Amino acid sequence: MCNELGPVTVFDDDMDEITYEGEFSVKKIYEKQMVDAEILRFQKFLWKKQVPTKVSFLLWAYMHNFIPTLSMLRHRGVEIALDKCHFCQTEVEDADHIFVNCKYAYEIWMEFLGAFKMQWVMPDTVQSLFEIWSQCKLRGRCRDIWEVIHYVIIWHIWQQRNDRAFGARHKTVSELVLFIKHEVVLWLHEKETFRHILLRLFCSIGKRFYILNISV
Ligand SMILES: [Zn+2]
Repeated sequence: MCNELGPVTVFDDDMDEITYEGEFSVKKIYEKQMVDAEILRFQKFLWKKQVPTKVSFLLWAYMHNFIPTLSMLRHRGVEIALDKCHFCQTEVEDADHIFVNCKYAYEIWMEFLGAFKMQWVMPDTVQSLFEIWSQCKLRGRCRDIWEVIHYVIIWHIWQQRNDRAFGARHKTVSELVLFIKHEVVLWLHEKETFRHILLRLFCSIGKRFYILNISV
């Protein structure tokens, strides 16, 4: 990046200035610090070795409120006729609604929490979900799956949201759950978790589905 920027001129004579947007107030500074602290807390969930960069980037965008949901696009001045969620079509589409609060997402989380015999009151933000998730410690093969599956779920809910937004076929909750299970296996294929297991995976090419036998 430095090479691309080339030489940068520094003006030693000019003093830096601190400016405030709007009127200064202690409350505003406090609130800004709180937001910064939340962002810092969430950063520990990003850029993990076992998490693909595209998924970390999605969470990074969530952290900075950049995910282009309908409500976000409208907030940024894009003309949107309807800002209702692509899943339930009743609530306003924002990131926490898509990933956690929507009935569609809720059913997916419940399916996996049930599989791990976890019983929680579902948090209402992605950030709280990741905090609680990290506090649950499992052992053995379950632990390996537990440590990545929430990333896989978030990623595929977002993919499914985009599929719906751009007119592709809708996956039901059970179809997406099955798809997520296959994805978890692929994410963990280099770990001991699934070694020596012959897997039968569904593979889609275009609109056709094939079954693959894969030894990992
Ligand atoms: Zn919804």
